[in-house]
Amino acid sequence: MNPENIKMPTAADIVYTLRNNFNSGNTRPYEFRLKQLQGLHKLLADNEKALTNAIIQDLRKPQFEALLYEVNYSKTEVLNTIYNLKEWMKPTKPSKPLPFIMDEVLIQPEPYGVSLIIGAWNYPVMLVLIPLAGAIAAGNAAVIKPSEVAPHTADLLKELIPQYLDSEYYKVYCGGIPETTELLKQRFDYIFYTGNCQVGKVVHAAAAKHLTPVTLEMGGKCPVFIDQSADVEIVARRVLFGRFLNAGQSCIAPDYILCDKLTEQKFVTAAKTILKEWYGENAKESPSYGRIINERHFNRIVKLLDGANIAIGGSHDIKDLFIEPSIVTDVKPTDPLMQEEIFGPILPIVITDNASSAIDFINKREKPLALYVFSTNKTTHNLFLNYTSSGNMLINDTLMHFSCETIPFGGVGNSGIGGYHGKFTFDTFSHPKGTLIRKLDKIGEMVNTLRCPPYTDQKL
Ligand code: NAD
Repeated sequence: MNPENIKMPTAADIVYTLRNNFNSGNTRPYEFRLKQLQGLHKLLADNEKALTNAIIQDLRKPQFEALLYEVNYSKTEVLNTIYNLKEWMKPTKPSKPLPFIMDEVLIQPEPYGVSLIIGAWNYPVMLVLIPLAGAIAAGNAAVIKPSEVAPHTADLLKELIPQYLDSEYYKVYCGGIPETTELLKQRFDYIFYTGNCQVGKVVHAAAAKHLTPVTLEMGGKCPVFIDQSADVEIVARRVLFGRFLNAGQSCIAPDYILCDKLTEQKFVTAAKTILKEWYGENAKESPSYGRIINERHFNRIVKLLDGANIAIGGSHDIKDLFIEPSIVTDVKPTDPLMQEEIFGPILPIVITDNASSAIDFINKREKPLALYVFSTNKTTHNLFLNYTSSGNMLINDTLMHFSCETIPFGGVGNSGIGGYHGKFTFDTFSHPKGTLIRKLDKIGEMVNTLRCPPYTDQKL
């Protein structure tokens, strides 16, 4: 047969097939979900090297980062889901209000149906496989749409997923904007999107046409506040780790610092020593430092340095997609660096007098995905906890909340809708069906006469 005559299934065909297959009920039993999750775990275990290499080909991440923060982290989440699956699937029994004391009151998690998972390029394995584990655990069928900006990883996932998961229920659909647009015209029962806020709005609008519930995992500018009580050397290590991991291309990377002038000076001094210790004299030669994903992002990031007061770094090379870890001081709120999420290895410092002016600064802007506060002062912690809004908040470190699976990870306002990780991923893909089970008994029916016509004054 001439391969040109083989018709590829359209987005509509795929969703139609998955919905029919989902309706068979086969994705619901515990045994099926467990088998698929074990398949997903095996996919990650068998192909650790291939997945790591694909990520490196796409992003030129250091191997340590690709393996530890993507492949192994995904494996941990899948394992955690496997261990807890039986427990999570059980209906929960809330307390019973007095009129229902003789009844059974349950919250039964049920799968939504056919879900769509759209991933972003910066962590191209983790951002599709962790949601996929949740979709499977909750008993859904799923279409997986990896990011076309990381094509090696997308192709590898397209090749591997059918080998380890049941293709009747889980399909990979690759492509860019036209393909995703086509997918979004279909009626899904749940959409889980990771990416930037502009496209998040497109996804939300498409979902609204079918009243489809969504999780939107987006980004924004994550602020860092440092006060004088904090040990600046330790703070600098923790902030620089968050900023320069994956060459600054992490959604929860600290985007800018708010601190006073003295703290800024101490931070810059400490940062010079630390960056040399981590990346040597020339970060370009360091195997521990990544690259920018493509020329479009490279040009966007480099432009942000125009006219900036660069205290550290600043060099770049488009041929190598390299931008040196950079720190910028004397930054004004109106500077280009402060207008958009940087999503690259530049860390601006904005001078702020104290915690309340920092809170004021943060509250005048879009709600961040993560807010970082460095202080030993409990009152300062509480000020930020109670008077700011952000997807997550981390006191005295950066990024680490991501791997604490007992708290939900996600945004609020412009940084996102919904959260996931650990049991929250299972909950995200489950509809909590409130269920009341009553007895068909005579005594109950005698009580029921009170609610039925005729509505006499006595009953009132
Ligand atoms: P991207 O370019 O990979 O896009 C994300 C997905 O959206 C892709 O699958 C892509 O095909 C699809 N897409 C792009 N344009 C589209 C359109 N017009 N219509 C429909 N679909 C479209 O990734 P990106 O958006 O550059 O990702 C970076 C952003 O994502 C940053 O803002 C970052 O903070 C955020 N992010 C958030 C998280 C999180 O967990 N909250 C994680 C990673 C990245």
